[in-house]
Amino acid sequence: MLKIDRIETFVLKTPLGRERFFSSQASFPERTSLLVRLTTSEGEVGWGEGGQYGPPEPVQTCIEKVLGPQLLELREAAPGVVWDVLYARTRDFGQRGPYIEALSAIDIALWDLVGKRLGASISDLMGGRHRDRVRAYGTGGYYQSVEFDRDRDLEVLGDTVAGYAEQGFGMLKIKVGLLPLGDDALRVQTVRERLGEDFVLFADANHAYNSQTAIAMGRVLERHNYEFFEEPVPPEDREGYARVRSHLDLAIAGGEAEYTRWGFRDLIGGGCVDIIQPDVCVCGGISEIQRITALATTHNLRTIPHVWGSGIAFAAAMQVCSSLPLVPYTYRPVPLQNEPVVEFDRTRNSLRDDLLTDAFTVEDGHVKVPRGPGLGVEVNMDVVNEYKLS
Ligand code: CA
Repeated sequence: MLKIDRIETFVLKTPLGRERFFSSQASFPERTSLLVRLTTSEGEVGWGEGGQYGPPEPVQTCIEKVLGPQLLELREAAPGVVWDVLYARTRDFGQRGPYIEALSAIDIALWDLVGKRLGASISDLMGGRHRDRVRAYGTGGYYQSVEFDRDRDLEVLGDTVAGYAEQGFGMLKIKVGLLPLGDDALRVQTVRERLGEDFVLFADANHAYNSQTAIAMGRVLERHNYEFFEEPVPPEDREGYARVRSHLDLAIAGGEAEYTRWGFRDLIGGGCVDIIQPDVCVCGGISEIQRITALATTHNLRTIPHVWGSGIAFAAAMQVCSSLPLVPYTYRPVPLQNEPVVEFDRTRNSLRDDLLTDAFTVEDGHVKVPRGPGLGVEVNMDVVNEYKLS
């Protein structure tokens, strides 16, 4: 029986200094993570992470003040049971946002604990591994400044993406949406010309556009042979999503800002996307992402999880990616058509690169799925203490 005796939360922050960057929506002067550590009555320890976009403190409060005390009261802390009970008890005020991020963190930590107790990795517990290594795409190509200094910025962008390619990536995602369409079109073109026709490219607008502008940008991306267009319009604009998707041939991706199976029911049901991008630390954890990805398969849609966080978030995403089926199945997996890939952020983040005793690395465009029990990773407490704020 799994009985939780102790809950600890950690707010981690690391300033980026001169490596600060911008998307269409925000400036990133620092990287943050909210970690949770659960300890059982028998002294076993499980780790989770939640809250990828906003400040980590509200997620911490949801755990410390609301979900945590209830978890400690439960006689049996099996993840599926905990999910159902805690979600039901916070449903009236917590269907999205920090409550679900807090629930995600707890759920991931419980799966880590169950795996450690049974000596099985989370992907084994999810039904087994379709793959022991996952093809990775690099995320980068952010804006270094909100002003566009054409020649200098295009040169820096070209050099940056060429550097990622040298690290072994064969697929990259860049940002669009901060600048006027014509300037962003130059960035799209620069990256294509620098990396060559065979390189696989994606673009992410972080919901910068209305549907009309998104269609115009989508045509630019199609002209330069980009494979998918992520978050073209705001997540609430489901009609806009459907309109963009019906006007373009390239795949439309989205879902990092959706929560739970109900959020994805509406995104998928609205005909919004070709690829869903649930974030395991946001959408409801391992328990819920299984339901979300199962729902996607009923519509023959691919899942490419969103990943943005510390090494724990990446480890959780790797376990999920290992267990994702081909959608649709083919005898021989075809990269991009049906084979899952994992997002590997390339901007500087010590919480991703230094937190684990064994950092994830890219070899031949792939990342290995850890074999060990649970998440399969070990947390370096010296690093936690170095970046811990509260
Ligand atoms: Ca994104």
